[in-house]
Amino acid sequence: MSSSLLWFGAFGGQICKRLPPLLLTGFALSRDLALTLTELMTAIVVNSKLLLILIQKVIVVTQDMQTVLVTGGAGYIGSHAVLALQNAGYNVVVLDNLVYGHKDIVDNTLKTELIIGDTNNRPLLDQLFSTHSIDAVMHFAAYAYVGESVNNPSKYYHNNVTGTLTLLDAMVDADIKHFVFSSTCATYGVPKAVPIVEDHPQNPINPYGATKLMVERMLADFDVAYDLRSVCFRYFNAAGADPEGRLGEDHHPETHLIPLVLQTALGKRESISIFGTDYPTPDQTCVRDYIHVSDLAEAHVLGLDYLLKGGESTKFNLGNGNGFSVKEIIEAARTVTGHPIPAVECDRRPGDPPSLVGSADRARSMLGWHPQYADIETIIRHAWTWHQKRHSKVA
Ligand code: UDP
Repeated sequence: MSSSLLWFGAFGGQICKRLPPLLLTGFALSRDLALTLTELMTAIVVNSKLLLILIQKVIVVTQDMQTVLVTGGAGYIGSHAVLALQNAGYNVVVLDNLVYGHKDIVDNTLKTELIIGDTNNRPLLDQLFSTHSIDAVMHFAAYAYVGESVNNPSKYYHNNVTGTLTLLDAMVDADIKHFVFSSTCATYGVPKAVPIVEDHPQNPINPYGATKLMVERMLADFDVAYDLRSVCFRYFNAAGADPEGRLGEDHHPETHLIPLVLQTALGKRESISIFGTDYPTPDQTCVRDYIHVSDLAEAHVLGLDYLLKGGESTKFNLGNGNGFSVKEIIEAARTVTGHPIPAVECDRRPGDPPSLVGSADRARSMLGWHPQYADIETIIRHAWTWHQKRHSKVA
């Protein structure tokens, strides 16, 4: 705001300094061109009014700009959400401990303020909330490796549960009342029926899913006790990359199917493992609902708008409602990349439910959410563009 005002101040100053000679010249001209003095003055008054309206509009727009703290904004889904928020006119501050996030993405692509630290760090949060005017928090910062959560649950409960509790406590003390939470379909466990709807029982089968469900529970209690309103988004399988190629998926280590398939196409891996070929699905491999990360990001902006307009706390599934098997994903990737992508059939991976497909009817009807990139080949193509670019840089 200040730079805009300075610019207008300087511009206005220039006009004032030049007004007397301008008036004289204008007067001379008016004689030559047979303009009346009244016409000349009218033109000056109209133009000044226009300038004033413009200044007022700039002030109103910048004053209306709300600031969102995005935790985990240097990560995969968080960074796409930052981009969507910026496109929607929000000001964004990122908090990320950079354990899995990428500083270069925040500095060079998102070009926004990055505060490096944990959500467990209460003094840091207090300082952040006292020095920034934060209207809402979007919380992505979490560990999300299912296998690791089984072997090292303590790490997950400390970061995902205690970290979120610390963040919520700091928000309550700072009187920040709007919270968008990155939850997961892993909170449902093995579904009794697909497509899964929001009131399906939640029985997570791994610590990762349990940590997310605990936060959902805390949010319900914080709503009642402290009027903290929240939207929980339960994602199905986030995939793809920013359609303009600015951001994408870059996990270390990588465990997800689509990036691993594309690494195989790039020659970074010899083959892709198919985990399990004895599932009760049409081709005996696991079925998942892949949702484009930019569509997920858009849903977060809509969820935030909903809360800021006074919406009640609620939960939404985010998926496409279409399931694709592991074999279908590999086949689609062969079509997109033109690479044979060798595949090796292996044993099941522990903890994988046979089929996870979500119904996102609620998000569509309540938020007006319309996924733009539901087609699986489009999702893989965007991921492919990003992987080629990213790996050519780090090669
Ligand atoms: N998968 C696979 N090979 C891999 C990685 C994943 O067959 O190298 C399978 C995995 O067993 C699951 C599906 O692909 O059925 C999606 O796995 P991902 O890790 O991408 O997401 P998840 O569904 O576990 O969140």
